[in-house]
Amino acid sequence: MTKAAVAQETAEADPAGRSVAPNASVVTVGDLVREVAASLVAAGVALPALEARLIVGHGLRLDPARVFAYPERPVAAAPVGAVCDLAARRGHGEPLAYILGEREFWSLPIRVTPDVLIPRPETELIVETALALHGAEDGSPRILDIGSGSGCILLALLSELPAARGVGVDVSEAALRVARDNAHRLALAPRCDFVCCDWGSAVAGTFDLVVANPPYIDDAGFASLTPEIRAFEPTTALRGGPDGLDAFRAVGRDLRRLLGTGGCAVVEVGFGQARRVEILFAEAGLRTIRVSRDLAGHERCLTLAAI
Ligand code: GLN
Repeated sequence: MTKAAVAQETAEADPAGRSVAPNASVVTVGDLVREVAASLVAAGVALPALEARLIVGHGLRLDPARVFAYPERPVAAAPVGAVCDLAARRGHGEPLAYILGEREFWSLPIRVTPDVLIPRPETELIVETALALHGAEDGSPRILDIGSGSGCILLALLSELPAARGVGVDVSEAALRVARDNAHRLALAPRCDFVCCDWGSAVAGTFDLVVANPPYIDDAGFASLTPEIRAFEPTTALRGGPDGLDAFRAVGRDLRRLLGTGGCAVVEVGFGQARRVEILFAEAGLRTIRVSRDLAGHERCLTLAAI
């Protein structure tokens, strides 16, 4: 259903646009879900039925469970138009998380905008690995998240470690605003600060835990990314220079200084990068104490300590 056709149908039924007259061809929630799903199929979206429900729910400000439960509910013209606009954005390749303004990470609703990388499920491995190191302790670990983006890693850790405090650093002020907003929404703001700085360069003091998911995609990898990622997600959050390792070199310059006695760092790496990153960090005075694999079996995360 095109936006124009929907508008005509509903506007004719009710010029005020508040609701649809009973004898008109009523547009219902179920109609909208079917139409949006069909448009997403045509655009080659992988999970059209699921995404259609989420888009309709978002556009109508309805919980997706209610979208599913009340397909016969009539919809007025204006919200139909809003849903059509959202569906068109998705059809043009914009990631669903930016359209919904949110992505779940570690079971937390994380607000996202095009200023931040969309949190990835594999990055939860950093949280899991860090919690295995610190979860059983009674202390109050100080955590540093380098390249914090949406703040997802630091906020997930603070949500699990009630006595922990943390600092997130990012070079993007726009990203920091998103992270601070997430901290407020999750009621974690009293235990964290988000500061603008280039990697760890301007950070003082030492930390019990340093986490980082740096940009690590090399030039060839970037060229082969799907347009959905390449055209919409922030390039600085993705690209790690020609060989993908520039950010690890930059983090390596400060990491040794930032780790307190007994402190550890947990760092995500790209596919096939673990050995090279290990060597690079060894040259910066850090030894790898664990290499963790993601659900696909790829080496994804290094745990490091001072040599
Ligand atoms: N730490 C954020 C995340 O993991 C941002 C990472 C980045 O921008 N490279 O989503």
